[in-house]
Amino acid sequence: MHALIKYGREDKNVELRDIPQPTDPAPGYVVVEVGAAGVCGSDLHMWRNHQSWAIKLPLVLGHEFCGTVAAVGADVEGFAVGDRVAVETAAEVCGVCAFCHSGDYNQCPHRLGYGALYDGAFTQYVTARQAILHQIPDNVTFEQASLTEPICVAYNALVEKTPVIRPGDIVVIQGPGPIGMMALLVAKLRGASQIVMLGTDVDRQRLAVAGEIGATHTLNIDADDPLELVRSLGDGYGADLIVDCSGVSIALQSALEMARPNGTITKIGWGPQPLGFNLDPLVQKAVTLQGCFSHLHATWERALALLASGQIDLSPIIGGVYPLGEWEEAFERMEAGVNVKSVLVPAT
Ligand SMILES: [Zn+2]
Ligand SMILES: [Zn+2]
Repeated sequence: MHALIKYGREDKNVELRDIPQPTDPAPGYVVVEVGAAGVCGSDLHMWRNHQSWAIKLPLVLGHEFCGTVAAVGADVEGFAVGDRVAVETAAEVCGVCAFCHSGDYNQCPHRLGYGALYDGAFTQYVTARQAILHQIPDNVTFEQASLTEPICVAYNALVEKTPVIRPGDIVVIQGPGPIGMMALLVAKLRGASQIVMLGTDVDRQRLAVAGEIGATHTLNIDADDPLELVRSLGDGYGADLIVDCSGVSIALQSALEMARPNGTITKIGWGPQPLGFNLDPLVQKAVTLQGCFSHLHATWERALALLASGQIDLSPIIGGVYPLGEWEEAFERMEAGVNVKSVLVPAT
């Protein structure tokens, strides 16, 4: 079967290759025929070899996916051939460490994530353990369900980890990529009254989409001053919550300026660049700075419920659906900011 493989550590060391199709799943595992797989900003980083996380090589890319159960191993309960399932990203965890025992398996030190340390989903069939499967509601399409994972990233950061958003709050989101857009949708559901989406020159089209899906203000930081905008809102003391989805370390400096005293900065985006500024504003304004990573089982059920109820509508975000053979166009259109999100359909 065809698979999109990162084979080296140079720019664009990614190509389609043939790999063996998984059959006969082990006890507790199923084989999923991939129905759709979302292209993540992190896939673009790995394509360009800009990733700041550990990966194996060669690697089948892709970690946002769903599909149809094609084979079921022994001891699997509650899932049968033909079921439509969304699959979490933690392909393997150890099951015996302190984090696994306490249910926080997203922090398992032995976690192997699809499309990073475990072969991913930009291919036709993937093996998955039962614990990470979720039934897809009948009215949710594969294209939508493939984006459950980025919804979970935003939901985990803005709801599970940030119980402080109140109706009436001012929320600033740095970076209108897919995760920034999901953060915008979740902030809106939480009742934020002003939502500012910040981008750069390359984000013109993405900022327009952000306006369509609920940002009250959008701003290109290459052209205008975000601090001035944020201080013009509410009582003028700054934003209650800043969500960094930019993937650029220096965004933290601007976040510290925009945060109001006792405000919160939630960091979702990664960034390999070291920082060279002082953190005194964090102390003086008593700002809470927190990191957020991945998600857990209950968040997946909630994200799928939001898709089923229509409270989250992804249609303005999905810029294009492509067969696996056209992966390069799918990647390029996301990198150029034309598509907020590209989705690959490996069976076509
Ligand atoms: Zn992702
Ligand atoms: Zn563990």
